[in-house]
Amino acid sequence: MTILNNQRVIAIEEHYVDANVMANVQGTDAAAAGPIRALLDDVGEARIKSMDAAKIDVQVLSHAPPAAQQMDAETGVRIARDANDALHQICQNHPDRFAAFAMLPTADAAASADELERCVDKLDFKGAIIHGLTGDARLFIDDKRFWPIFERAQALDAPLYIHPAMPHPAVFDAYYKDYAKDFPALATAGFGFTMETAVAGLRIVLSGVLEKYPGVKIILGHLGEALPFLLWRIDMALNRPGNKGVAFREIFTSNFYLTTSGFFSDPALLCCIQEMGVDRLLFAIDYPFVENDPGPKWMEGLMLNVDDKAKILHGNAERLLGM
Ligand code: MN
Repeated sequence: MTILNNQRVIAIEEHYVDANVMANVQGTDAAAAGPIRALLDDVGEARIKSMDAAKIDVQVLSHAPPAAQQMDAETGVRIARDANDALHQICQNHPDRFAAFAMLPTADAAASADELERCVDKLDFKGAIIHGLTGDARLFIDDKRFWPIFERAQALDAPLYIHPAMPHPAVFDAYYKDYAKDFPALATAGFGFTMETAVAGLRIVLSGVLEKYPGVKIILGHLGEALPFLLWRIDMALNRPGNKGVAFREIFTSNFYLTTSGFFSDPALLCCIQEMGVDRLLFAIDYPFVENDPGPKWMEGLMLNVDDKAKILHGNAERLLGM
């Protein structure tokens, strides 16, 4: 018997799209098109069939980027609320198979905090997902005007999943444009998403928001967006003379959780476990941007003891998300 035959498997960064949300998203950020779109639209039998084939018991669903992050406050508040209600219904249709992270209209931080509370308290959502930068000003989520979201997340004990979206346009032009035609993934999953989200994670620590609200739990996908690999050097350099100094490594390893979304590498996972401890690693696929099948197969063959695999596959999610 393989490990997966008797393990509950919970995958926590699994995406879908809401037609009404997509109708209000424009430009390059509306990239979830083509053959992927049909898979994102499907939240019924075909998706569950794919989960069954890969032995995935539960998907924690979240909208694909950029969701409401680029919407103005008035539009975002209305559309996020409708989308979260619709997502609740999707979960109700298959309560054993689907759970949810809320979409937040971050252009209005106070409304986002209230929506997070509504989703967690009334709809049994497991937390919220935030996709990249907010609004035309392209604000990172550590900006002080967003701190009410962190405050409420702490009060609710609901994690915030910091997820990639398209890089800042100026970053795209300076760093990726020259190679974007031949390698469009360079600016996205190939590198740009990781860089953008690693910076978001770094800035959350530097902002002091986690010292003000130490109970906040942050989730990063893609094995921590390279930060575990860089942890020692970041911690060392930010505490050199001339810097304000920050307990970076201590805060990162106390407040952050990482998932395996779209990153099925033994050495990269082992680096994460060595830096963070296995209790902070959670299984995810990043479906349908990544196929379901390879993830569980990777876990099956991974040279890791049975107890730690069980924590990654379901135990840590059950504890962190109350599932
Ligand atoms: Mn994703």
